[in-house]
Amino acid sequence: MEVLSAFDGGVSQPHEISGDEITFELKPGQRILNVRIAGPPPELRVTMLFDKKGKGFVARQGLLVGIGNAPLTALPLEELPDHTLRVCVQTEGKDVRLATRYPYGRDALDKLICDTGSAPHGAWHYWAQSDRVVPYFEFGNAAEAGLIHYFVAGEDCWETAGCWVADGIVRLLSTDSPLTETLLAKSAIRVVPLVSPYSATREKASYTTPDDKGIYGAATWGDAEPPPEYALIRAQVEDAIRAGRLGLLLTLHSWQAQQATSNLQTIRAAGENALSESRAAWATDTLARMIEGVPHGATSFPEKIWHPGLARDYLLAAHNAITFRVEVTTAGQGHDGFRETAERFLANLAALDDWAPVCGG
Ligand SMILES: [Zn+2]
Repeated sequence: MEVLSAFDGGVSQPHEISGDEITFELKPGQRILNVRIAGPPPELRVTMLFDKKGKGFVARQGLLVGIGNAPLTALPLEELPDHTLRVCVQTEGKDVRLATRYPYGRDALDKLICDTGSAPHGAWHYWAQSDRVVPYFEFGNAAEAGLIHYFVAGEDCWETAGCWVADGIVRLLSTDSPLTETLLAKSAIRVVPLVSPYSATREKASYTTPDDKGIYGAATWGDAEPPPEYALIRAQVEDAIRAGRLGLLLTLHSWQAQQATSNLQTIRAAGENALSESRAAWATDTLARMIEGVPHGATSFPEKIWHPGLARDYLLAAHNAITFRVEVTTAGQGHDGFRETAERFLANLAALDDWAPVCGG
């Protein structure tokens, strides 16, 4: 058998083949695996060596396996000592795709653009700076509509479950439905399914800068000069805030299966700003109503951000604006769960009318 990885987002890791077994070294941290095995045996034993940090992202999720060209589904893993996980894959002798994350890269984005290109209400666009583009979808007309809602996924390009939810949101908004009509009658919706398509094709980090450095891009919202994609998105969001037109801003992330819930969150204080009692009550209510019916849904509402410079920290500190984040879990759910999450977020958004507290009102 042979390991192939030269496709969009394909990442191999050091491995050893011995008879019917392939062992991947996925230490240290959260090493990604996204390969195709050509010419596997009918019973392929896959062993993965993790450390404590990396194991949690995969153990409860399983190994993502696609036999032939079938979609990826999660196979439960057997836990061995020393953070080692193993599974036996029945390949039927066909080539098999193995991944530790549901891959989302430029090819998924291309398919989304092609599949929804002729949608009645929306269109894809891009913002551009320094030879980089941020593709986004706009439903309704943001120049004319009242509120603008934002769904932003792939800030950390590895956190692909968030991208799949955003992908589902675009597909839903692209179909003529009472839900789409309700939403677009009172607002415009912008969806960024993958903040940095460039980063998704590299294995270096969750974000790769134009000068090829791997950084924590999601935490650059507060930088004097964020990298291009963050600068472009931030400028749009700040315009909406200054015009008092920002509705929901939801960044979509994923700790994969490290947590068993899809946790929706905002914060109470940042910099000199703290939410008043009435805005805090509004945020509590909005968290509860937005998470309603979301599979494995949970909420949290901490005092402060866990890492400075993230969108909800910067936007509250600099603009006194309330924004949200979800960590979509991959424990016990795959593509169906991501689609259902997309559906629930849109249905819940459609039922919410009061967004004045976002911008301090
Ligand atoms: Zn993240």
